[in-house]
Amino acid sequence: MSSLRDFEYIPVVELDEYDAEWRAKRQSVPIDGREALYVELIEALLRKRPLTSKRYARTMQAFTHRGLPWLAKSQVLDVYQRLCDQGHMAFDPEARVALQTKPVRSQAGVTVVTVLTKPYPCPGECIFCPTDVRMPKSYLHDEPGAQRAERYKFDPYAQTAGRIQALDQIGHPVDKIELLILGGTWSSYRRDYQEWFVKRCFDAMNGVESATLAEAQARNVHAARRNVGLVVETRQDFITPEELRWFRQLGVTKVQIGIQSVDDRVLALNRRGHDVQATRDAFRLLRLAGYKIHGHWMPNLFGATPESDVAEYGRLWSDPGLHPDELKIYPTMLLANAELYAYWQRGEYRPYTEEEVVDVLARCKVQTPRTVRLTRIIRDIPTTNVVEGFKKANLRQIAQQRLQAQGLRCQCIRCREVRRQEVSPEDLTLTVETYETDATTEHFLSFVTADDRIAGFLRLSLPHADADLPIPELAGHAMIREVHVYGPVLGLGEESQGEAQHMGLGTRLVERAKAMAREAGYGRIAVISAIGTQAYYHKHGFEVDGLYMTAML
Ligand code: SF4
Repeated sequence: MSSLRDFEYIPVVELDEYDAEWRAKRQSVPIDGREALYVELIEALLRKRPLTSKRYARTMQAFTHRGLPWLAKSQVLDVYQRLCDQGHMAFDPEARVALQTKPVRSQAGVTVVTVLTKPYPCPGECIFCPTDVRMPKSYLHDEPGAQRAERYKFDPYAQTAGRIQALDQIGHPVDKIELLILGGTWSSYRRDYQEWFVKRCFDAMNGVESATLAEAQARNVHAARRNVGLVVETRQDFITPEELRWFRQLGVTKVQIGIQSVDDRVLALNRRGHDVQATRDAFRLLRLAGYKIHGHWMPNLFGATPESDVAEYGRLWSDPGLHPDELKIYPTMLLANAELYAYWQRGEYRPYTEEEVVDVLARCKVQTPRTVRLTRIIRDIPTTNVVEGFKKANLRQIAQQRLQAQGLRCQCIRCREVRRQEVSPEDLTLTVETYETDATTEHFLSFVTADDRIAGFLRLSLPHADADLPIPELAGHAMIREVHVYGPVLGLGEESQGEAQHMGLGTRLVERAKAMAREAGYGRIAVISAIGTQAYYHKHGFEVDGLYMTAML
């Protein structure tokens, strides 16, 4: 492994004025002598659950008339914490969740921390992709996450530490972190940069500096802030067996790939530089190596029509070489700093109208398999950048409403997650849905409620006997590619109030997967463990075994 000394980093103590300003806005308020009134305020807020902005504002207004200052939600949370610490109130994890500023962020059971790599060119020449020299390829300077990264000078340590600190201050438990590394094509960055970047993220999670990546990873296994998932984004034509080994050394568990289109003609017209077979080949290798696959797909590319898009979307799921586990649908946005802009100026390209986009989204959504999570629809770009075409950011909801009006509903994982709904083990049924890919049989095990809400799921992948394995030491192994149990994130050691994460659902899913693999004739089972989930799998009989954790069946 190469030297890490070539790269500078910014210690977290030198975080720029952004953080100072952020902290100033969220200063603690003095509560001495007014504890009883603050207790009343918090009790009043908790009675108004779910705490919408309107209810919050009304309650706060009533208490300002009684002499309290107007508090931001993060300040209320801080007051609540201090009242509990001083014995004026009993701590209740549900109350804390109710008072959190942005509860959705951690509903899927882990806290996502997004970091961006430094500005760097990408080997791709896609005509729809914006170029902003201040950013890694495809990102715009004024996207929310990009602005934050720029403030931290793209330093991985500062970005990770700053984000953890910010989330911690608004009351989000940050002991289980999924690290999402964004920026152009990860595989095109020098490997010494990649290694340094990941090591610095681990240093920030560990709160202590290590000499090497391996040392930082070893520290994280039992750290207070564990890395429970590591995601990178790259191109399909960079996926090779050797690249997959490298990803594993870094600790990667999920790979984001721009599918963009499953039509060779559209791919060529948009100068993607690869064909659909390249996507199938990459997905096969990724699946056989146990990675979770997060695809991006783009309707309204140059050469596509609403009808061809809806048909393409169906092929994403009917073609056994495709079928990603998660999908972002990013309708093409016409941006002035992408080459597509010139096509539009020449009259060769037309962005869909808002009505066309909603129609395509609704007709696509309804085709989404139950085993897939539609993570995002519409890219989070300030719409001031959009030259022509749809400008509303809430098209997902509009498409959803259209489906409802037609008596239809999207059955993807995201639309069925239990979220904050209370669940008890007796209400849950374990179901298994099975589909074939070009190299594996995939079993999707899920715990669902009577009204079909998902409380947890597991992806069990059984490689076909004739599959050409990219990681030969996995021969004879079944593979657990993902275990996910929902519920608000609780800090380690806090008591559960019925959250799915804490009802042993993970254990039951893993045991069932083992039994299914055994019945299918496998002698061993592997799991693609993140560094910070090793201790969890160890409890389930798995041992670190090279790049994976494995167990006898
Ligand atoms: S590969 Fe991705 S980042 Fe690179 S040009 Fe194409 S869309 Fe942009």
